[in-house]
Amino acid sequence: MQIRVKSGDSLWKYSRVFQIPLKLILDSNNQDNPNQLMIGEVIQIPGYVTKSYTIKPGDTLWKIAGWYQAPLDGVLLLNDANPFALKPGEKVNIPIRVTWSLVNPIQNYDYNTLVTDVRKLLAVYPFIKQGVIGESVMGKPLPELVVGKGNKKVHMNASFHANEWLTSALLMKFIDDYARELTNSQMLSGVSLPPLYESTSLSLVPMVNPDGVDIVINGLPEEEPYRTLVDEINNGSNQFNRWKANVRGVDLNNQYPAKWEVEAQRKPTKPSPRNYPGKAPLTEPEAIALADLSRRKKFDRALAFHSQGEVIYWGYEGLEPPESERLVTEYSRLSGYTGVRYVDSYAGYKDWFIKEFRKPGFTVEIGKGESPLPLSQFSKIYQDTIGIFLSSLYM
Ligand SMILES: [Zn+2]
Repeated sequence: MQIRVKSGDSLWKYSRVFQIPLKLILDSNNQDNPNQLMIGEVIQIPGYVTKSYTIKPGDTLWKIAGWYQAPLDGVLLLNDANPFALKPGEKVNIPIRVTWSLVNPIQNYDYNTLVTDVRKLLAVYPFIKQGVIGESVMGKPLPELVVGKGNKKVHMNASFHANEWLTSALLMKFIDDYARELTNSQMLSGVSLPPLYESTSLSLVPMVNPDGVDIVINGLPEEEPYRTLVDEINNGSNQFNRWKANVRGVDLNNQYPAKWEVEAQRKPTKPSPRNYPGKAPLTEPEAIALADLSRRKKFDRALAFHSQGEVIYWGYEGLEPPESERLVTEYSRLSGYTGVRYVDSYAGYKDWFIKEFRKPGFTVEIGKGESPLPLSQFSKIYQDTIGIFLSSLYM
């Protein structure tokens, strides 16, 4: 919600009237001098939307505010109307606190859905900052969402693998719930959120492989040469449920320089719906974008969400720090997922992250069955993994 500054206003006053933590208002606005607002300038108030209401005979602002459970002082701050001389037909803006989800994860979560949801989140929670870390092969911008400016830098990503797109819906649901309960000063899953917001900077890349996700959900791309290429790689089949790769048939989670040669030896040697590691490490723009982001931001820990198996992989060649074990023990306890230290699989993002930075890196395999997981599993997966999300921030 936007508010136009009037005489006597301050961010502190907005915080008090709308009951929104001052820090969230500060972080939603890029004020050079937050103590000195200019009359007429526009300030973002997170956690609210406005509703336009047309005055009818006999209405009072007090009554209207009551109907919408809006703070009366907030209605006054938002409108120039003289509260003692309302004219029927006149429009007033009512501030409505957002207590509902903006993200609906129970749907085929393709790239367009993601982009729409990102836009909704940024409009209501402007303290969430969006960056673009690169582009997919087909030119789709890869969004990164950042919440908080704390010292502990936590990174999470999803949909490295195309048919594991439920992981994107999961991360988007996490950030929606986190932002909403922060603004409403509510706990999330029993955890108090302001200390997490103060101490961490959370980076989310909710869809690493948007071209692949769209193939699985929507079928062959319209655009050439990709349409012909994907059709060839998939042997003319219109079944894409097993497709994990990017649009060029490269498995992005086999692209990292962490024993890449081992995978190259035993995996497909040409573009395939899954498992082809490419001609060399880091040839694909999506994999490069994640590597560059990780080098630039120097994350303290990273979690890559995949499906499926209800396991958490957490080691790489003994290079993982002791903290990895401490974290995975807590993740396991909260989720019921099994921690697995070593597995005969290399060249993944988590392997490279541990090798390159000697920081905790994890592959979290959500759900059970076959990918793409059915939407009916979503709420159980959410219940199982919200603790992983939160403890990544508080531990
Ligand atoms: Zn995967």
